[in-house]
Amino acid sequence: MADHLRATIPKLGIDRKKILNDLSARKKDDCDFRGGRTFGLVYHVDQKHEDLLADVQKLFLEENYLNPMAFKSILGMELELVSMISEMCHGGSNAVGCVTSGGTESILLACKAYRNRARLKNRFRKVEMILPETAHVAFEKAAAYFGIAIKRIPVGKDYKADMKALERAITRNTALIVMSAPQYPHGVMDPIRAAAKIARKRNIPLHVDACMGGFVLPWLEKLGEPIEPWDFRVEGVTSISLDIHKYGYCPKGASALLYSSMGFMRNQFFVSTNWPGGVYASTTLQGSRPGHAIATAYASVVSLGEEGFLRLTKRILEAKKILLEAISDTPELVALGPPEVTCVAIASKDKNIGIYAVGDVLQERGWHLDRQQSPESLHLTIMQNHLDTISSFVKDLRDAVAIVRANPKLNQSGQAAVYGMMAKAPLRGFVKTNVAQYLADMYGSPGASSSESLGTLHSDSVKVSPILKMALKIFGKKSTLR
Ligand SMILES: *Cc1c(COP(=O)(O)O)cnc(C)c1O
Repeated sequence: MADHLRATIPKLGIDRKKILNDLSARKKDDCDFRGGRTFGLVYHVDQKHEDLLADVQKLFLEENYLNPMAFKSILGMELELVSMISEMCHGGSNAVGCVTSGGTESILLACKAYRNRARLKNRFRKVEMILPETAHVAFEKAAAYFGIAIKRIPVGKDYKADMKALERAITRNTALIVMSAPQYPHGVMDPIRAAAKIARKRNIPLHVDACMGGFVLPWLEKLGEPIEPWDFRVEGVTSISLDIHKYGYCPKGASALLYSSMGFMRNQFFVSTNWPGGVYASTTLQGSRPGHAIATAYASVVSLGEEGFLRLTKRILEAKKILLEAISDTPELVALGPPEVTCVAIASKDKNIGIYAVGDVLQERGWHLDRQQSPESLHLTIMQNHLDTISSFVKDLRDAVAIVRANPKLNQSGQAAVYGMMAKAPLRGFVKTNVAQYLADMYGSPGASSSESLGTLHSDSVKVSPILKMALKIFGKKSTLR
């Protein structure tokens, strides 16, 4: 855990050169996304693309998209983006949508819209949504924020949502069914056509989460890959979330949320008429919002064009092919799924080779990967710059397996021990409390009381077991908390 930082606003302003030097120096331990050693986080194209984005960002640096009428330039770009993306997803003439700050916001908004719709339409007292267990955690966040009950359905051996379970989970409170294209953990497509058929029969909206796949599936299809229909071509799909700041290659802060018609989108809007500050209306969660997020998203998409997207997607496919071949040639390892799109989850088939220990060795060698649980695996989002590094990754992956075989102790040490414990701890509430405490320590002063102070003194701040505390220390040191 980082020492608590104490900083004061300087008495005199610091000069430009010093600030730039200082901030550049601060980046030295950040992960290197340009070099193709990070499997997620940043979807980097090249210096030329980055320079364009920086120029466009500067052009719209201070514009506030709180009021679209004050910045019609940005409204124009938003509507054009929605139109281009809608065409890409075969939205038809009734399709509508908006640009949000990211996948999470797109998902929160869709859930909020369907919740409101259910309340209005059916006077539901309880609102439920059906989620495959692999659906992105942002849906769980939406449920927690907006008071929606979750009905989880399992996935099969192929990691696809179970359609029998879907039928069983539907009740008269079901406001929404969610499917993913693909789901994040294993890069597998849910059976969207089958789910849409069920949704249509029961007259329930179906949201397709294509945050990951939205900007690669159309190009994979054009490149001749076998991709089953997932977009508005499938009758019954009522909305799609799709991140521009992933495979649309713009900086963070842009995702799209599309609906098959305004009838659904209308439930997303917020209007207040009685505030002394005036009549206030907004389409998305944010109030004041950066204009440059939409401008850079727009510039990224039009600068690449179809040709650029196809070229980059081809490179991703090649890198993925090299990786999957190497995994199938390594008897200890398996790619779960198999992965159909551009995320790959690597697990171990050999009880002596803990995949988290393999992850530790790879991390020592400068590869940034995420750990997943049930089943334990390493997650890789394959990006175009990996075509240049995948061969050396594959070599290190094989080395890592050999190193763990020779040193079984690695399975019980380092981060492997922590992740192993976190994945296996039977009391999930216990893990939850301790991770929440980790956040409290990151933002509070360790040692200071973390109880509320509303006049009364509470002495019951969360107790953290010393072992977990130590574990979280190691855990927190090298990796981001996810
Ligand atoms: C990334 C992702 C999200 C969440 O998007 P953020 O931009 O991180 O908020 C949701 N669903 C899937 C499938 C994703 O890959």
